[in-house]
Amino acid sequence: MHQKNTSRSDDMSSNTNDRNIAFIGLGNMGGPMAKNLVEGGYNVTVFDLSDAAQQQLAQTGAKTSTSPKEAVENADVVITMLPAGKHVKSVYLGDADATELTADGLLSHLPSGTLIIDSSTIAAADARLVAAAAQDKGLEIIDAPVSGGTAGAEAGTLTFIVGGNASAYNRAKPMLQVMGKNIFHAGDNGAGQVAKICNNMLLGILMTGTAEAINLGVKNGLDAGVLSEIMLQSSGCNWTLEVYNPYPGIQEKVPASRGYTGGFMTQHMHKDLHLALQTAEDSGAKVPMGTQATNLYDGHNEQYNDKDFSSIMGYFDDSVLKDV
Ligand code: NAD
Repeated sequence: MHQKNTSRSDDMSSNTNDRNIAFIGLGNMGGPMAKNLVEGGYNVTVFDLSDAAQQQLAQTGAKTSTSPKEAVENADVVITMLPAGKHVKSVYLGDADATELTADGLLSHLPSGTLIIDSSTIAAADARLVAAAAQDKGLEIIDAPVSGGTAGAEAGTLTFIVGGNASAYNRAKPMLQVMGKNIFHAGDNGAGQVAKICNNMLLGILMTGTAEAINLGVKNGLDAGVLSEIMLQSSGCNWTLEVYNPYPGIQEKVPASRGYTGGFMTQHMHKDLHLALQTAEDSGAKVPMGTQATNLYDGHNEQYNDKDFSSIMGYFDDSVLKDV
């Protein structure tokens, strides 16, 4: 168990009422996050549309369920880690296109006082819509999207970017500290999502820029590994060069070195870039670099939507994608 567990008991003792967690959405991120909560001593009941994902969690000590409604029976806290806004609205409001709570929505079935933590990356407007419906029912809710990738989810070192009131934030914090290392309170409901898409727009720009620079060097006779090391120690250094190099074989344990599998799928980066562009349009912010990254991911997403987003390397050098 990683080191942070030593401080968990202090945090959790102040919230002894929040012991039972329903965790919905056990994909690349949700699976390891739920596992860390089990290892942190919480009683976790899980639900995912994929039975295989549920069974994997059962092996760690989580209880499985057959529906979101069954998962939340006895839950003090509900955590969701779903692909996009339509899934979040479908679970909480009862319909992917809902503009208000319907009888099928999970919010209709939760006792007042239940705390909801939605860690999915979705539009701030959707987060605010779900939050308003939850607060109408006497529920507490935060949006808490994450940064740090699957490695951060596994190691329990994610960054959580929270939107919500202080009471819900403070109540959620002990659980977020089990799954993450840096916990930020960005503002009221929806603010976590705004901060998250600013970050991911920058990440999309950095990843495409890094792939472009590596390809320029390779096309001019440089070794990709040597060039990466030079840029890592120079002013072009950035997070993708440090821990997520897009060129195969430069770093171990990154998606590029395992056929661009696992990690953060292109379809999620594509979604996040479009969320950023929509937010920019709504607010009149200029985003020329974000627009360019979005254009590149638009084309790439048509063929490689289920590959890691670092596979954008293949736009510049298609040889890296020949076996995937
Ligand atoms: P994923 O596609 O691997 O997992 C999503 C899971 O949700 C799947 O297991 C799917 O079966 C399940 N699901 C879908 N609809 C459901 C429903 N109605 N009920 C129950 N389960 C349902 O996605 P992921 O990579 O885990 O990402 C989840 C979220 O986290 C996304 O919003 C993504 O943008 C964000 N995110 C991902 C990463 C990353 O590195 N993968 C990093 C930061 C943020």
